[in-house]
Amino acid sequence: MAGKVVVVGSSNIDLIMKMDRLPRPGETVTEAEFAQVFGGKGANQAVGAARAGGDVAFVSCVGDDAYGGQVIENLKKDGIDTRHVFREEGVASGTALIMIDASGENCISVAPGANYRLTPAHVDRARDVIEEAAVVIAQCEILPETLDHVIDLGFRLGKLVLLNLAPARPLDDATLGKLGALAVNETEAEFLTGLPVRNDTEVQAAAGALLGKGPKIVIVTLGARGAWVAVEGHQGLVPGFEVDPVDTTAAGDVHCGALAVGLVEGQALLDAVAFANAAAALSTTKLGAQPSAPSRDGIDALVQSR
Ligand code: ADP
Repeated sequence: MAGKVVVVGSSNIDLIMKMDRLPRPGETVTEAEFAQVFGGKGANQAVGAARAGGDVAFVSCVGDDAYGGQVIENLKKDGIDTRHVFREEGVASGTALIMIDASGENCISVAPGANYRLTPAHVDRARDVIEEAAVVIAQCEILPETLDHVIDLGFRLGKLVLLNLAPARPLDDATLGKLGALAVNETEAEFLTGLPVRNDTEVQAAAGALLGKGPKIVIVTLGARGAWVAVEGHQGLVPGFEVDPVDTTAAGDVHCGALAVGLVEGQALLDAVAFANAAAALSTTKLGAQPSAPSRDGIDALVQSR
């Protein structure tokens, strides 16, 4: 399989404040440290895929504020095709306010802004690039009707649609049946199945239940342990790589992006998941969402070290 990885979804500016302890309602804490980082699940996946070696196009909406231009310029640095990142008038770009205390505990507020201006009509305007895709990736920081349209269009064009159901939202069986691959973490797997996911037996049962609804591949990411893979006739753990994590933000996003690249390159499924585990493990060793996505050289080196 050769072709593009097309990511349809969100981009955010992450405004991060690090402080000793989080403020209580009505309280002001001072002496925080500030950083502005590019984030948003869709954009993180696009950058994760591009650095992993993919030929990537991104379909998204940003605002007509200063951040919108910065988001586009930043994606271009990784060689991402941004022709279908639309700038919408009179709306702010997606923004996340993130407060983190010394122990890593956080409080986050997200303003979707332009991400909720991405409509099915925008997706149709990107049809030419979606037609060139081998894998179409979507996540859930956009409107439900737009997400449904992406999945349906990708399915009708015969593309492998990889849905990362994050943040979790209900999904009907007809939509699940159109997925080439579904990627969820343990919490999202519990949400979608109503089953507990606390050990391998339970992961297997939940993954099996999801597989029964139609996706060809189900991936349940399990943090440091790696990722569980379920396909017809096989279920099992693909172990994670041991690293010293400093920030697990966007690990799931990087996993998805790298997985798509592995699949586009024709890697066997379990090899593609190991490749994604390596990329995601490396992403946990650096702070921030997109700054932490690793390069292909680093991923290959970690895969070969096993
Ligand atoms: P999410 O961030 O979406 O909750 P996970 O925590 O399951 O998802 O992480 C996604 C992937 O990132 C895992 O499948 C694993 O490959 C990798 N990963 C996450 N945390 C670690 C860690 N501490 N050490 C090594 N790899 C990790």
